[in-house]
Amino acid sequence: MPNFEILIVGAGIVGLAASIGLANKGHKVTVIEATSVLQVVGDGIAVAANSQRVLKYYGILDNFYQRATRNVGVMQHRRYSTREIVSARDMTTQVQQYGYASYILSRRGYQQFLFEEAEKRGVQFRFSSPTETIKDSAKRPVLILKNGSRIEADIIVGADGVNSILRKSMYPGIQVSSDQNCYRASISLSKLQADPEVAPLVSTFDFWMGTQHLVIAAPSSDEDQYSMALYHPGNTGTAGDWKKPGDLDHMRETFKDFAPAMRKVLYLVDNSVVWKVVEVPPLPSWISKGGNVVIIGDAAHGMTPYQGQGAAMGIEDGTALAETLERATNLEDIKRVLPAFETIRKPRAELIASASAMLGKMWQMPDGEAQKQRDERMKAMPIWDAKTWNGTHADEIPGSLRDRKHQTWVMVYDTIAFIASLISCCL
Ligand SMILES: Cc1cc2nc3c(=O)[nH]c(=O)nc-3n(C[C@H](O)[C@H](O)[C@H](O)COP(=O)(O)OP(=O)(O)OC[C@H]3O[C@@H](n4cnc5c(N)ncnc54)[C@H](O)[C@@H]3O)c2cc1C
Repeated sequence: MPNFEILIVGAGIVGLAASIGLANKGHKVTVIEATSVLQVVGDGIAVAANSQRVLKYYGILDNFYQRATRNVGVMQHRRYSTREIVSARDMTTQVQQYGYASYILSRRGYQQFLFEEAEKRGVQFRFSSPTETIKDSAKRPVLILKNGSRIEADIIVGADGVNSILRKSMYPGIQVSSDQNCYRASISLSKLQADPEVAPLVSTFDFWMGTQHLVIAAPSSDEDQYSMALYHPGNTGTAGDWKKPGDLDHMRETFKDFAPAMRKVLYLVDNSVVWKVVEVPPLPSWISKGGNVVIIGDAAHGMTPYQGQGAAMGIEDGTALAETLERATNLEDIKRVLPAFETIRKPRAELIASASAMLGKMWQMPDGEAQKQRDERMKAMPIWDAKTWNGTHADEIPGSLRDRKHQTWVMVYDTIAFIASLISCCL
């Protein structure tokens, strides 16, 4: 396999993880980042079994566990107004079910960890380098920076997030948005544990299900933080702005119908940011017409966060890209193999995106008969129930979210094994 010169636009979780996978294969990788330092927002992100399988393949899982020291224990779905537990699940059994336990890590810790691992592998970084556009009409594509510099490469990978410049250069008319917003806040765990009324709430991974409102909260695996995501309709957030300050009075007013203990937690929040939940609709392709530029992660399939799989799908993309490029024998061959990457990745990312959107709706049902039926169903069969893993990767695509195989397929999917078994059909 030849070693290619690869530019990755974006040093988010997805660009960093992809740089590790590609550098591990011997490619010369440079990451181009608009901001002057890593753009990190300090709240929690779920790192589930399928992401950890990739980290293991990259040889960095042990180092990940140096940071992520507490895995998720119990996950609960609650009624927002009464705190009543609708369903509870012991997540420690995920090791038997999916091969790995789940962790909620601070984004800061996760991104910094991936950055350090990328540097160890010789990945080069150019910060303060916003990309203006790309040209992919010549033999090799060219990245044009806002300062006018032009950088040529064999392949350009767009991991530049939901407002991706690379995606816009391919599909200028695509609109990305949603009517969902999310306040993000973290509070010191010790501060909450010191208060007897709220202390019992903060050791579990909780989903507070309300009418068009949802709070997801959990203690972090790597910091003394309780991390919260507070979903609500309207227009408080701005697409792609991860640092917009949240209005605390508005936040408390918006969640005023929640149980007194949750309201108390909200009064202990000192500051927050507010995000727009953004969905990128299924695109005709993730590859440029010229054939040497590809988008991955949120740039290609930004999805609602309810299934906690957005970053995970981007991490899988990076591995799949590295595996697929291994089949290219020369520069010209890149155009032949990249479509195989897309054929394998797109259906999975799009199915998980649609399942995630449906979960969001299900967990935010208005109070009433349908909600009562939902609660009864959840009591009978907690979500994320799955049979014990038999040690083989799951490649049977489930028919729907209610298919009992769905969650196994999300978690036990092995990108490398899947590509090895399918790639010859796609090339
Ligand atoms: C509320 C919420 C909760 C979530 N929870 C989870 C979860 O629990 N688990 C999970 O797996 N996923 C979760 N996700 C999804 C996850 O956060 C995203 O899928 C993931 O962070 C996307 O990473 P990315 O690297 O593709 O994009 P980004 O993180 O947006 O990174 C893009 C990078 O590109 C840079 N960039 C942008 N434009 C340019 C340019 N023109 N030139 C150069 N650089 C540029 C940016 O500065 C940034 O560093 C959640 C999302 C939300 C909104």
